[in-house]
Amino acid sequence: MKQSVTQERVEFTKAMKGEYTILAPDIFPMHMKLLEKVFALYGYKLDVLHYQGKKVIDTGLRYVHNDMCYPAICSIGQQLYALQCGDYDPHKVALIQFQTGGGCRASNYIKLLRKALNNMGMGYVPVISLSFSGMEKNSGFKLTPTMLYKGVMSVVYGDMLMLLRNQIKPYEVNAGETEDKVNKWVDILIGQFEHNKGLVGKGIMRNLRAIAEDFYNIERVSDIKTRVGIVGEIYVKYSPFGNNNLEKFLESQDCEVMVPGVLGFVQYCFHNVSMDYKLYGMNRYSRHVNRFAEKQAAKMEKRVISVLKEYPDLICPSTFEELTSLGDKVIDRGVKMGEGWLLPAEMVELIEKGFNNIVCAQPFGCLPNHIVGKGVIRTLKDLYPYSNVCPIDYDAGATKVNQENRIKLMLAVAREQ
Ligand code: SF4
Repeated sequence: MKQSVTQERVEFTKAMKGEYTILAPDIFPMHMKLLEKVFALYGYKLDVLHYQGKKVIDTGLRYVHNDMCYPAICSIGQQLYALQCGDYDPHKVALIQFQTGGGCRASNYIKLLRKALNNMGMGYVPVISLSFSGMEKNSGFKLTPTMLYKGVMSVVYGDMLMLLRNQIKPYEVNAGETEDKVNKWVDILIGQFEHNKGLVGKGIMRNLRAIAEDFYNIERVSDIKTRVGIVGEIYVKYSPFGNNNLEKFLESQDCEVMVPGVLGFVQYCFHNVSMDYKLYGMNRYSRHVNRFAEKQAAKMEKRVISVLKEYPDLICPSTFEELTSLGDKVIDRGVKMGEGWLLPAEMVELIEKGFNNIVCAQPFGCLPNHIVGKGVIRTLKDLYPYSNVCPIDYDAGATKVNQENRIKLMLAVAREQ
């Protein structure tokens, strides 16, 4: 007999807003430090989960089919583990999932999460979806324009902090000083957001300049470290749980790490709508809206870049426009499943900025990212003979030791070069 899995959606109501804790998986560790506090400004208690380890993966595997994407197993596993481990009262929490709304399986994570909750007998836990392609209605959760804007600014400042942290920390003389500056600036920025400051024109520029100067003044040694870039599927690229603490591991191997910013991915999502219009004649109105959003994001990005350019010994990211031309050298912009053309574009950018060694982090069995990751290595080698790209698969069955050994091999090649 065919079983129905449809079940009525549990709404996040107004009454829940004050009482419930919203649990989010840790996708963008730096940016979510700010986002957590932006939510608090609007009366929501958001907790970003940092559970890791076999017990969390096992929880994910128990309720999500092992054929599903590894990011789904990790992010849903973290949320379900939080409900089971006793740290939270399941009757006082809601779960949140971030979705791009694209054509890939990530657009279905929300359904997987609801199905898993039903199977656990916790179908009463509300699930909020945050998606680029429209949100479900919840009377207790409203993304107001100012909250959304502060969320976007968290991405802008988060990118700036991540970029500076990655370039300064490996060389700091006093251990811990760079991380202290990150925390200091998260507090300052949230204090400003609370009073609607640091959000437009001069206020943004003043902050960006002060942040850059503050990090730049950290006392550093003049060593030269092995430079390694990280690209990949959005979850395993950024989430320490998804990539077995890849950044920490590279730092322990005496490397300077560069991870392209989240704002590039945001612009990529907007840009893809224009591609849909160009290639398939899809929705003209949606294209206008997305082009407008893309332009606004580009303006923000230019501000970050203009400030970083004042420091010639710091590496400054390319604009999104430049990224599109870099990607055109390798792949067509019609390739937009998963991270699509953005992934090879970021690899080209990293190589041209001196990060010849690249870890391409991909979930095992993620077809779209294997095509644009592993699939372009030959072309990259032809264009840049010194490129040293190491694709690493992340999966519940993959061992950390294996992954680290492959990265060590890549580093050995890098040091020889
Ligand atoms: S990009 Fe890969 S991991 Fe992400 S949803 Fe698509 S198939 Fe899954």
